[in-house]
Amino acid sequence: MTRGARLTVDDVSKHYGASVALDSVSLSIDPGSYVVILGPSGSGKTTLLSLLGGFTQPTSGRILVDDGDVTHLPPARRPTTTVFQDYALFPHMTVGQNIGFGLTMHKIRGDERSEKIERMLGVVGLPGIEDRAVTSLSGGQQQRVALARALVIEPRVLLLDEPLGALDLKLRRQMQDELGEIQRRVGTTFVHVTHDQEEAMSLADVVVVLRDGRIEDQGSPESLYLQPATRFSATFMGDSNLIDGRVVRTTDETVEVETSLGNLTVPGRASEGAEVTLAIRPEHLRADRGGDIVLGEGRITGRHFIGMHQRCRIQMGDRELILNAPTKPLLPEGATVVVTAHPDDFVVLI
Ligand code: ADP
Ligand code: MG
Repeated sequence: MTRGARLTVDDVSKHYGASVALDSVSLSIDPGSYVVILGPSGSGKTTLLSLLGGFTQPTSGRILVDDGDVTHLPPARRPTTTVFQDYALFPHMTVGQNIGFGLTMHKIRGDERSEKIERMLGVVGLPGIEDRAVTSLSGGQQQRVALARALVIEPRVLLLDEPLGALDLKLRRQMQDELGEIQRRVGTTFVHVTHDQEEAMSLADVVVVLRDGRIEDQGSPESLYLQPATRFSATFMGDSNLIDGRVVRTTDETVEVETSLGNLTVPGRASEGAEVTLAIRPEHLRADRGGDIVLGEGRITGRHFIGMHQRCRIQMGDRELILNAPTKPLLPEGATVVVTAHPDDFVVLI
């Protein structure tokens, strides 16, 4: 096991001329954790990873590994290794030569070199293929070799930029599970960049949501999903119904919000008169009277059978809600239903 390093991003900005790729980003990454940087294209993910790896210098701010300031150190002098989306394997070399490349650079040769290569191939689930040409491998196997090549030199931080982006969906989901297991086996701090929220949720100890060069939200997958901090976070991490309104009354623990679906009293804090948005997940709406909050009657204008649930579009006055219901009973399109929910399942976004 390697001892993963702590990473600290201290008020880092990165400007390209007049355009701002990162804007005052501060972030603390625990040693040995699996952190996923999630955001849409252009949000600054690759820039942040390049700054951590030393491929780019910040316009302002500092980057620390444990207690050491590495802001101006080149990649080779940092305890970090980067895996790029296109793997960047050497096509004229065997699997073993590819994995051993970094070891040679570190002057590790002979038996020790062979043993490390063999062990690392075991870690990534490809034992015994040292002598194969990398060009004879499938995409998923090449991805694993790239990972083995990065991990064999025992970096204290592994940086991964859209590492599964080139794989088809099925392989991607499978590699996703394996990446998590490999990380736990090696103990290295992983920082993984993706725009795929399912990938983020399934791998991360901590997800950091980036938007327009700023951190929009961060936390465990559960907390981000159940208690998103902003509208963007609530809709980027899965679907949410967003209901706008105005706070008309408050108690210590609840707010009463006037909305187009009536006055809704839910747990949360906000000041009286404030414009807020209530977010509720599709799976938290019910098409029966089982919830304590009644949102009113609506008409089912569309229904898709997904397997795990049926996904219904429900027209309520001039707005539409998405509701995921259990598959029994099947809800007929065109039917009128009463939509209810539990107060605890609403999140108040200020
Ligand atoms: P992501 O990886 O999330 O798609 P990037 O970090 O690549 O986002 O880019 C963030 C922003 O910075 C984008 O607006 C992009 O156009 C800009 N940018 C990134 N690299 C450069 C560069 N070398 N020169 C100019 N602009 C850049
Ligand atoms: Mg990118």
